[in-house]
Amino acid sequence: MTNLKMNESIIQKKIKEKIRSIPDYPKPGILFRDITTLLKQPEGVYDSVEIALEKLAGIRFNKVAGIDSRGFIFGAAISYAQKKGFIPIRKKNKLPGQVISEEYNLEYGTDELELHVDAIDENDQILLVDDLIATGGTAIAAVNLIKRLKGNVAACCFVVGLPDLGGISKLKKNGVDVISICNFDGH
Ligand code: AMP
Repeated sequence: MTNLKMNESIIQKKIKEKIRSIPDYPKPGILFRDITTLLKQPEGVYDSVEIALEKLAGIRFNKVAGIDSRGFIFGAAISYAQKKGFIPIRKKNKLPGQVISEEYNLEYGTDELELHVDAIDENDQILLVDDLIATGGTAIAAVNLIKRLKGNVAACCFVVGLPDLGGISKLKKNGVDVISICNFDGH
């Protein structure tokens, strides 16, 4: 292992340890991976963004799309660090302009995501960011919104991956590059 890779995995372990797991929230049976305990640390956002940027080296994108609401935190930080545009993909009825919508199933319920029709120019290369991927319903709805406006998804980036819930492999099967800063087994 190179020194860089070794440092990266130490930092990733630190990040993982700072994420709190809350059983039965928001519904019985869900183990909620709470990033607020990571965010409140002085280096929480910084280390997460640094690792994300390491993993994204070589991937070209000109806009970052953050998913409402925790995807805004890391998405905006990456957009700042890389001097790229930021576009919010929001829950229903939050965006003021003309929108397109996609319905999706969550690990705990259903919801709808919306995107302004003028958020994306044809052939924009979009980095999609959220805090966590579980079943992939949310991310796939966001990918569909981006594609409907003729954008390309350069990659999807998550702080937490739950590979056993299938979302990461679903995205990969759709031809989308996926990076996650840390993964948890199970749910
Ligand atoms: P999914 O569509 O199943 O991939 O769920 C991902 C979305 O739901 C993300 O926006 C997460 O913030 C949220 N989410 C789903 N499951 C969890 C979980 N176990 N812990 C924290 N957030 C979750």
